[in-house]
Amino acid sequence: MSPVIDYLRISLIDRCNFRCQYCMPEGEDLQYALQQDVLTNDELMTLLTQVFIPAGFTRFRLTGGEPLLRPGVVDLVGAIASLPDTQDLALTTNAFLLADLAEDLYQAGLRRVNISLDSLTPEIFDQIIGNRGRSRWQQVWDGILAAHRVGFSPLKLNVVVIPGLNDHEVLDLAALSIDRDWHVRFIEFMPIGNGDLFQHRGWVASEELRQRIRDRWGLTDGAVRGNGPADIFQIPGAKGTLGFISQMSECFCDRCNRMRLSADGWLRPCLLNETGQLDLRTALREGVPLAHLRDQVQALVDYKPEINYKQRESGTTGRYSRTMSQIGG
Ligand code: SAM
Ligand code: SF4
Repeated sequence: MSPVIDYLRISLIDRCNFRCQYCMPEGEDLQYALQQDVLTNDELMTLLTQVFIPAGFTRFRLTGGEPLLRPGVVDLVGAIASLPDTQDLALTTNAFLLADLAEDLYQAGLRRVNISLDSLTPEIFDQIIGNRGRSRWQQVWDGILAAHRVGFSPLKLNVVVIPGLNDHEVLDLAALSIDRDWHVRFIEFMPIGNGDLFQHRGWVASEELRQRIRDRWGLTDGAVRGNGPADIFQIPGAKGTLGFISQMSECFCDRCNRMRLSADGWLRPCLLNETGQLDLRTALREGVPLAHLRDQVQALVDYKPEINYKQRESGTTGRYSRTMSQIGG
């Protein structure tokens, strides 16, 4: 059965204060959207209320780049959270700025955050995020603790597993789910953003990670609220869960219920191919009637199962030059 397409990932900004090895190519200058091309708050709210919500979207995730770098992010979160049709609002962040913003974001109506945390070892963490200055690990950890204190729930921690970089920490990272209601999600490394690293390091299949965790503690089926493709398990007796996002080893294109809106207003129905993309910013600024945009988005929603099918057939075999930070990961 085709999934209901009701989930929009909204990139608030394509810039980032980290340069994660798996997300961005080494040494190359990334192309960023010009400031004047980024959707303003008003434009984004118009698209949400007049186009996306009428076309059936009710679940939103704010991402980037690093969404907390967007000026006025708390007000924007408040505006989206207070829309009567918003059934779910979440944010994905690297948490570097979260310690200071967690309380305000919660007060603004945000309840769910996903935080990237690829290592518990500061030196390895800094190596992965491309930081050569003072370690950033502690500030990220403080951001996670602040999110926990404020009450974000479920609080999910995203780990991209890269052979030879952080795969030896999988058990330590999984153990974070035992004593706290934290949900650790292991993501298979995709050849998106940094194809050279992918070719050099390869990726680890979720089942291999599950086996290592099973050997240590055992694993049972679990459940956690969310809109994603993760398969959820639990260490027996743990307060949190373990999720596995296995886009390399177990294609989930046929279950894909999401579209992505880039910071400069391109609507993208699939992460891995450019079929059907719509330039909503230009259309909006040229005065194309909102009803027409709504029809176009609705048509794309109707067409999405076919895009899912085609992507499933072609597989995750290519090298994708646009990074997750540019598309809105
Ligand atoms: N900056 C925020 C963060 O890192 O959480 C939000 C944007 S980031 C692009 C969103 C997600 O994309 C992160 O969880 C990151 O781990 C994931 N990601 C980026 N590049 C990836 C790749 N090549 N393979 C798998 N996941 C990737
Ligand atoms: Fe920035 Fe997130 Fe990409 Fe890391 S994964 S470089 S934090 S956008």
